[in-house]
Amino acid sequence: MEILHVSAECYPVAKAGGLADVVGALPKYQQSLGHTAKVVMPMHRTKFLYNNEWEVVHKGSFRMGEMYLDFTIIKEKTNKLGFDLYCVDIYGLLDRERIYSYDDDTERFTAFQIAVTEWLSKWEHHPNVVHVHDHHTALIPFMMQYCFGYRHLSRIPTVLTIHNAQYQGWMGWDKATYLPAWDTWRWGLLDWSNTVNPLACGIKCADKVNTVSPGYMEELKREANGLESLFNFESGKCTGILNGIDYSVWDPATDTYILDNFTVKDLKHGKGLNKKKLCDDLGFDMQYPLIIFIGRLVHEKAADLLAEAISKAFEQTGHAFSCMILGSGEKEVENGLQRIQNDFIGYYHSQIEYNEKLSHQMYAGADFILMPSRVEPCGLNQMYAMRYGTVPVVRRTGGLKDTVIDFGEENGYGICFEKASVEDIVYSITRAVELYKDKTKLDEIRQRMMNINNSWETSAGKYIELYDSIYK
Ligand code: ADP
Repeated sequence: MEILHVSAECYPVAKAGGLADVVGALPKYQQSLGHTAKVVMPMHRTKFLYNNEWEVVHKGSFRMGEMYLDFTIIKEKTNKLGFDLYCVDIYGLLDRERIYSYDDDTERFTAFQIAVTEWLSKWEHHPNVVHVHDHHTALIPFMMQYCFGYRHLSRIPTVLTIHNAQYQGWMGWDKATYLPAWDTWRWGLLDWSNTVNPLACGIKCADKVNTVSPGYMEELKREANGLESLFNFESGKCTGILNGIDYSVWDPATDTYILDNFTVKDLKHGKGLNKKKLCDDLGFDMQYPLIIFIGRLVHEKAADLLAEAISKAFEQTGHAFSCMILGSGEKEVENGLQRIQNDFIGYYHSQIEYNEKLSHQMYAGADFILMPSRVEPCGLNQMYAMRYGTVPVVRRTGGLKDTVIDFGEENGYGICFEKASVEDIVYSITRAVELYKDKTKLDEIRQRMMNINNSWETSAGKYIELYDSIYK
């Protein structure tokens, strides 16, 4: 089977979060199952672009509203990622350093989608499935069916994976003119609450829709940033498939980013060395449990609660743990986390940046990882942490609920709490501090977590079953 993935991100080409990890791993695992998986994404100006060789495979042009745009599709020459990687270059629109957060993101991602569909319309054969990811690519199933120039693509099955339903790509109706000539009788497919809503449109038009965990799909039927009724109405074609993790990237035995490689057999020693390196760098005392947070500093992740919760937990436990934060996001949250730095010298450090290497070192060296998320479609951090013997401390929501069992329950290994509140976080930190004192229990939990198989193998197979169910 030939699958074309369309995405805004793909690790290691360009990454802002979990979407990149999924699109960098799933195609690789699909290839190893004997299928042909290809990825097409925007040509962001990242190191990967400059450090690799490319060939031009297609050139084309299209009109978007009043703009006439030329585009080029380039292909990475050596199959470095284990699958064919294509990037779309649209001069002045896509060749930028950041992936998102430009004022003209609507124009950028609409143009990207038109270029991909235009290119696809010129293929001599058709892929068996077009698999689009999140709102940045969710207009493609509509265009393939209802833009007059692309009607010959309408029989290709489409799948939409929702990695995050909070962001929907809303745009005013005045921008509907950006789309290539389309059947205006179908305007209702583009519309949601009087705006063009690409994510809603994708849910309506794709043959199958899935979220990245079963728990998140259920939650969306109750709370989906305005799309609840749509998820209920379309529930017949909606499923949840849990993300896996890429074992060739996230393996403490081979990870080149970490100081000392280790396996479940020598985890005490290996984690000890990695923890020592982190603690020495930060001036922390090794004897205390090291609790970390890695992620986008946004409301969804409940990062706004961290500064207060950590301060209170330090007070309540008598400074019985150390804490390190790595992330960037909302300025107010960043400032709050920086502000408490002087109050807890020797116990607390916040690093406001995106740093892939440091994140690996933290997963390897920490004792606990805190994830108090208000919304967590799947969450990869807890799975990476477990693979590195780091105990997840998570709010029971979305994918966190699907992947972490509290250590108080049978065969449990994590610490779970109910509410994204300062009180619940503080209480969970005190539980972590207590658990850390029981070295036998901690060791047993670490071994149990490291032996859990969260690899992509199982989930990659589930996607193939999903494609099979719509293969026309
Ligand atoms: P989301 O996609 O909602 O941000 P996920 O848990 O699905 O959350 O994926 C987050 C990914 O991004 C993980 O690979 C995590 O290690 C990484 N990550 C997030 N913030 C940072 C950061 N500041 N530095 C390095 N890696 C980060």
